[in-house]
Amino acid sequence: PGRAAALAQLVRDVPDYPQPGVMFRDITGLLADGPAFADLVGAFAAAQEPGAVDLVVGMEARGFLLGAPLAVALGVGFVPLRKAGKLPAPTERVAYDLEYGTAELEVRTGSIPAGARVVVVDDVLATGGTAAAAVELVERCGAQVVDVQFLLELDALGGRARLAGRPLTSLWAVP
Ligand code: 5GP
Repeated sequence: PGRAAALAQLVRDVPDYPQPGVMFRDITGLLADGPAFADLVGAFAAAQEPGAVDLVVGMEARGFLLGAPLAVALGVGFVPLRKAGKLPAPTERVAYDLEYGTAELEVRTGSIPAGARVVVVDDVLATGGTAAAAVELVERCGAQVVDVQFLLELDALGGRARLAGRPLTSLWAVP
C-alpha cells in the first residue's frame, strides 16, 4: 500500500482531456522518475509467480512502456498489440469501443504461441474495452491469459466486469 501510494502521487490528474468531462491520468511523470519507474516494474514482476509466465503482451502505446520492462524483469519475451494498420500481414484483428471513440487492435499471426501463459499489461483500466480486446486476441491464438496487470484501475467505469473470469491485478484503484 505504501509503495502504491507513493507511485500514485506521481500520476497527474488532467481534467477535461482529451474531451470535456474526462479525467485523464497522466503517467509520464512516473516514467520520468527513475527509482519510481523501477519500483513500478518491480511491483508488477513481484505479482507473478516465478516461472509461471511465458510471455508479456502489451497494448499500444502505454502498455509497451510498462510491458517491455516487465518482460525483461521476468526473463520472457514481449509481444506488442498494435493499433490497426501498423503491422505487416498476416495479422489477427479485433474491434472494440473506447471510453472516447472506437479502435482496433492487431497482433502478428504466429507471434503468440498456442499454450503460452500470457500476462497482458496496460497502464490504465477504464471501461475495459481495450483489455477485453487484448484478451480476445491472446485467447484466439490459443494462449492462456494468466493475469491482466494495470498500474491504475478506474473503478467507476466498471472495466473489471468486462474481464470477468480472468485474473486481474491493479497496483491501485480510484473510486
Ligand atoms: P478502456 O478501453 O479501458 O476504456 O481504456 C483503457 C485504454 O485507454 C488504455 O489503453 C489506456 O492507456 C487508455 N486510457 C484511458 N483512460 C486513460 C487515462 O486516464 N490515462 C491514461 N494514461 N490512459 C488512459
